[in-house]
Amino acid sequence: MDIIVASGNKGKIREIEKYLPSFQIIPFKDILGDITIIEDGLSFKENATIKLKAIQEALVKINYKNSYIIIADDSGISVPLLDNTPGIYSARYAGVNATDKQNNQKLISTLKEKHITQTDAFYTACIAIYYQNTIFTTHGWMHGTVILEEKGSNGFGYDPMFIPNGFDKTLGELSYDIKKSLSHRTKALDLAFKYILPFSSKI
Ligand code: IMP
Repeated sequence: MDIIVASGNKGKIREIEKYLPSFQIIPFKDILGDITIIEDGLSFKENATIKLKAIQEALVKINYKNSYIIIADDSGISVPLLDNTPGIYSARYAGVNATDKQNNQKLISTLKEKHITQTDAFYTACIAIYYQNTIFTTHGWMHGTVILEEKGSNGFGYDPMFIPNGFDKTLGELSYDIKKSLSHRTKALDLAFKYILPFSSKI
């Protein structure tokens, strides 16, 4: 069965592909081309659901097969000392269409202005899944520390400045297998696929 990802974020798509190595993962753009989705929800769950529904409705419009799974992921990093920002605005922290580098620099400069050299932070992922005419959502979290420099080039987004609890290196320096064993995304996907597993003989 096709598993369609309702995201254009290459980092997320790569992680979902590695999470489900025996499935064919299809980015929605390969089927639908560019679609503008306005993420105006006020929570990770609302935004994940908005993305999922937009893609599901677009697939119905083109009569795309009658059986598929859609996965949407809305995620971000929250810093308690900054009132849990950037949170749902993580992708556009430094402005609409900001690069990962620009967002990281914005977080570094915001922390510097407050004379914070390192502080607790956590990632949240909400996974919304469409499967057999049902939409449901799951969440996962990963806690750690953000530092005021970028180290390493693994992962994506804020990973080079995030040290997960129990480690002394950033996710930019740690392997993907380590990130996978700890990550907010893995935890949310595990819960989602626990629901799907009983039906998996049909997938
Ligand atoms: P979204 O595509 O609107 O959900 O925005 C997600 C943003 O949150 C990304 O662009 C990253 O900045 C950040 N983010 C989410 N998950 C991760 C992760 O696993 N590592 C690093 N950054 C992440």
